[in-house]
Amino acid sequence: MTGTSYPHLLAPLTIGSLTLRNRVVMGSMHTGLEDRVHDLPALAAYYAERARGGVGLIVTGGYAPTKRGWLKPFASEMTTRLQAMRHRDVTAAVHGEGGAIALQVLHAGRYGYHPLSVSASNRKSPITPFRPHALSSRAVDQTATAFAKSVGLARKAGYDAVEIMGSEGYLINQFLAARTNDRTDAWGGSAEKRMRFPVEIVRRARELVGDDFPIVYRISLLDLVEDGQIWEEVVELAHRLEDAGVSVLNTGIGWHEARVPTIITQVPRGAWRSYTARLKAEVSVPVCASNRINTPELAESVLASGEADLVSMARPLLADPEFVAKAEAGRADEINTCIACNQACLDHVFENRKASCLVNPRACRETTLVLSPTRHRSTVAVVGAGPAGLAAATAAAERGFAVTLFEQSDELGGQFRLAMRVPGKEDFAETLRYYRRRLEVLGVDVRLGTRARGSDLAAYYEVVLATGVVPRVPDFPGVDHPSVVSYADVLSGRVVAGKRVAVIGAGGIGVDVSHFLAHDPREDFDDWMAHWGVGDPAVHRGGLTERKPRTAVREVTLLQRKTTPIGIGLGKTSGWAHRAVLKQSGVVQVTGVTYDRVDDAGLHVTVDGEPRLLEVDTVVVCAGQESVRDLVEALPHAHVIGGADVAAELDAKRAIEQGTRVVAGLADRVPAGR
Ligand code: NAP
Ligand code: SF4
Repeated sequence: MTGTSYPHLLAPLTIGSLTLRNRVVMGSMHTGLEDRVHDLPALAAYYAERARGGVGLIVTGGYAPTKRGWLKPFASEMTTRLQAMRHRDVTAAVHGEGGAIALQVLHAGRYGYHPLSVSASNRKSPITPFRPHALSSRAVDQTATAFAKSVGLARKAGYDAVEIMGSEGYLINQFLAARTNDRTDAWGGSAEKRMRFPVEIVRRARELVGDDFPIVYRISLLDLVEDGQIWEEVVELAHRLEDAGVSVLNTGIGWHEARVPTIITQVPRGAWRSYTARLKAEVSVPVCASNRINTPELAESVLASGEADLVSMARPLLADPEFVAKAEAGRADEINTCIACNQACLDHVFENRKASCLVNPRACRETTLVLSPTRHRSTVAVVGAGPAGLAAATAAAERGFAVTLFEQSDELGGQFRLAMRVPGKEDFAETLRYYRRRLEVLGVDVRLGTRARGSDLAAYYEVVLATGVVPRVPDFPGVDHPSVVSYADVLSGRVVAGKRVAVIGAGGIGVDVSHFLAHDPREDFDDWMAHWGVGDPAVHRGGLTERKPRTAVREVTLLQRKTTPIGIGLGKTSGWAHRAVLKQSGVVQVTGVTYDRVDDAGLHVTVDGEPRLLEVDTVVVCAGQESVRDLVEALPHAHVIGGADVAAELDAKRAIEQGTRVVAGLADRVPAGR
């Protein structure tokens, strides 16, 4: 394809009976819309919007082949003809937009969050409370047949392909690794017998659906758990799957219980591409790369270098349904990039809530959170250009209002500007790039360095106040000592902390600031892998080796008044990694603290009734925030959003969602004088 910056990404690919219009696969991600019949129209709308946005192949969330394979009680399954027929609306919606869609068949095995769960053995997973029942030899055989039956039903439902989920530590992966398979029958005991289950599934499915129907198999390249597979076994499995009739090998990295982060922001972009390339060199079917690929440039480079034939992106398509269309139209700078925060997608799913997206709150709410066009171009003023104000200003302009955005500082972004300085959160800068460009494209009148007064706002039909927050200053003697600074001073670079630092307050920002202070800026990609103990899977089982210790550049003590463990309020799927980094960096954590005073000697505290002196050079205050509401009283009819509304537990997810929702609800009024 000529005339495009992404010739490899946008090239078509034929797999069996299916020709994909490009190499972008929207990877499987459970959204919570899969489980109930009444949510199918919303699911159809969600996929249709992505198909309209040009993606080559959509892969659905996982559907169980048996009830025992449910992810949770009464979760999605594909086991009957009736269920298949109900999916016809979903597949038709995607086809109506020129797209293609594959159903993923997933048996949760011991990750099933219910008492009926089964596995290769009765070994309990560390991330679920239920001990699985070990499948009998006969039940294994029946489960392989059930997988094949689900594949057949998917074809009847109008799906263009299927994906069999063989990675991430689900049932098939549980059969493949000695960690979870201690069987002595025909389905375990040797690597060859452990592979029999997935190979039988593919063989039976292929027999049922004939030669042309594409069967994708998601293979675990690196298990990242002890007693996982060794590379030789992964390659042998790939060969056997090819022989059994698989059409594409998609790739997965790490079991859910692995203690190595694989997809969150701190994982370097494209971290796993070299492993995909290694597999590709061994097989003849197309191979799909996945995990931490979130821009068209990176996806193009993976394909152009011959490391893969397809690129799977799940969250990036949640963040921007028009990802492909924008890349194709030379508008990649308008892509709303996924920042790998997991806050509204995977965290929601693991908390049993419907998924959405922090940077795109319309994701999975396509039918309910609608930005309907206005007929009258009435005026809207938005005050404050942090995440809430940016979301409100762009949403209002998208609806057709004439929008003015006031920001007292010289830059857009508010608290987000600070977040992007935290090591591993550099991707947050993409969100600001997106908003900056969006404001430009939509023609919003942006007034930087302008502090709006009540009188400036009187002429606007609607006023949205997103004036944000200021850091809270705690009340103890010496809080005005020169060694005491706020997190904003440190993260913005206005203040460089000394070698010994105390951090007051251990919420999300205290944890981030501690990481920022201890982090060695010389850390590179190889160091990152070594710190997490990722080794060569040809040498180390599961790709796990001993972790290389981190060198902290400062001595950091992180303090909080509560006695609860530090960091328990952090995101479900990312908090453990943030806590691990603190530990690896030698950050001392103290709870149940009373702050007595700060003086030239340092920070005086009381812990367990004992006075202690922390001899530190700098005290960084991360004690939460307070709302800035000075315009609220003067403008009683204004819409107050973000931190200006409620400062407690403010995060960008709430800010962006509130900004979007408020604007979606604005009335379309006729401006005076028309
Ligand atoms: P936060 O989560 O409310 O934490 C503020 C901390 O300050 C609390 O842990 C509190 O603990 C302490 N504190 C409160 N008042 C104090 C006082 N008067 N004196 C001394 N200590 C006081 O707020 P944040 O850390 O500023 O974060 C703001 C928001 O951003 C939160 O919603 C957070 O979830 C989000 N965020 C999340 C992440 C992440 O998930 N990685 C990262 C950054 C920010 P004690 O009262 O026990 O001392
Ligand atoms: Fe990406 Fe965060 Fe949105 Fe999930 S919530 S899709 S990780 S930006």
